[in-house]
Amino acid sequence: MRAAEVSFDVVVVGRGAVGAAAALGLAQAGQRVGWVGPAARPGAAATDMEGWDSRVFALSPGTRDLLRTLRVWDAMPAARIAPVYDMRVYGGAQADAPELHLDAYSGRVDALAWIVENRTLVRTLDAALGFAGVTSIDDAVTALSVEDGPQGRATLELASGRAIAAKLVVAADGADSTLRTLAGIEPRVRDYGQRGVVANFDTALPHGDTAFQWLGEQLGILALLPLPAGSSERGRASMVWSAPDALADELLALSPEALAERVAEASHRTLGTLTTITPAQSFPLRLVKVPRLIAPRMVLVGDAAHAMHPLAGQGMNVGFGDVAVLLEVLQGREPFRELGDPLLWRRYERARREAVSLMQDATDGIKRAFGPLPGPLVGLRDLGWRTVARSDWLRRRMIAQAAR
Ligand SMILES: Cc1cc2nc3c(=O)[nH]c(=O)nc-3n(C[C@H](O)[C@H](O)[C@H](O)COP(=O)(O)OP(=O)(O)OC[C@H]3O[C@@H](n4cnc5c(N)ncnc54)[C@H](O)[C@@H]3O)c2cc1C
Repeated sequence: MRAAEVSFDVVVVGRGAVGAAAALGLAQAGQRVGWVGPAARPGAAATDMEGWDSRVFALSPGTRDLLRTLRVWDAMPAARIAPVYDMRVYGGAQADAPELHLDAYSGRVDALAWIVENRTLVRTLDAALGFAGVTSIDDAVTALSVEDGPQGRATLELASGRAIAAKLVVAADGADSTLRTLAGIEPRVRDYGQRGVVANFDTALPHGDTAFQWLGEQLGILALLPLPAGSSERGRASMVWSAPDALADELLALSPEALAERVAEASHRTLGTLTTITPAQSFPLRLVKVPRLIAPRMVLVGDAAHAMHPLAGQGMNVGFGDVAVLLEVLQGREPFRELGDPLLWRRYERARREAVSLMQDATDGIKRAFGPLPGPLVGLRDLGWRTVARSDWLRRRMIAQAAR
């Protein structure tokens, strides 16, 4: 390993939204931060400047709180954010499938979520990072060496041949994390055999600030999320269709007109006739679980620490939850503890492990329940679904959990 040319308090690796939030929060907390990753981020190239980004996220009230603390939330253009006050989930592909209705009012939250485009989020974070004194390094990490002891450092070798050092490394380099591999953490990966197909549509009927979702064995999971429609009488919606691989191939091969018709049909024309406004893109869906969230002088956050099925729109929110706890642990650090102290980061791991597993197991359970099941289990699933749909208490618990 070469000698480091420059040394930081913390190096954040990965320039997705979770890495950006971590770098910003750490810099605002007074750390000297290096932020490493290839500059072009997923989704950014697939859209033009004025149009809509087909990659959108449902951000939870907990994420809104973190982004407010980082002074990013109010800097996002209000005209590009759509609140979700209601959610209607249909537990079957048939038109009369039992409905689960969640609403912000009975859940006692301002909104169930806010739909924000990836590009809006990333650009606003980038602008804030420009003021925070973070050093951006357009490069990729290829090797790691860690010196133990209170004066130790982690040294990262970069694809350009340079080396940089830090007291602490935050690995935010996504589901295929190189840093995780370099730290010797073996993930358990399960391919869902589905892809998330995304596209945006103009809709003949307004969405009424409602997110719709249909779960079905052949269908996979189809969601239509509200987008801001401005002053238009019509509406605008973003699709996330977690489609079995063969169906995903079919959807991606359709013309924009045929795709719109197919989605309108699968969604029982709930939003009327659809017109495709952004081309379809797709993302592989996997469950990635890790045995440890920390390694010497390293903390894993975001998809590097946990990838999950997008049916509950929670992956990014759980990643922002990691960042919130990382910053809390740092804030509570005793003056005698140096940044790489393992005791410090064990607090992080303890605080995150349960929340992460809970969300991964819940999304995985729902995905399995609506996959192929032996006959008797189908009846049991439908009974369970009806029970949840009728219980105010259970529905409130679900909202409280998703709001974190
Ligand atoms: C279809 C779909 C819909 C979704 N919808 C939602 C939703 O509504 N709400 C929600 O909360 N979540 C949602 N998610 C999940 C969400 O997309 C992810 O959880 C989130 O994008 C992860 O962000 P990240 O910053 O951790 O990782 P990424 O966005 O993957 O970023 C990782 C970064 O690391 C960089 N990198 C990789 N290797 C290296 C290296 N060696 N050196 C330096 N940099 C490196 C990459 O270039 C990249 O920029 C959805 C996911 C899918 C697939």
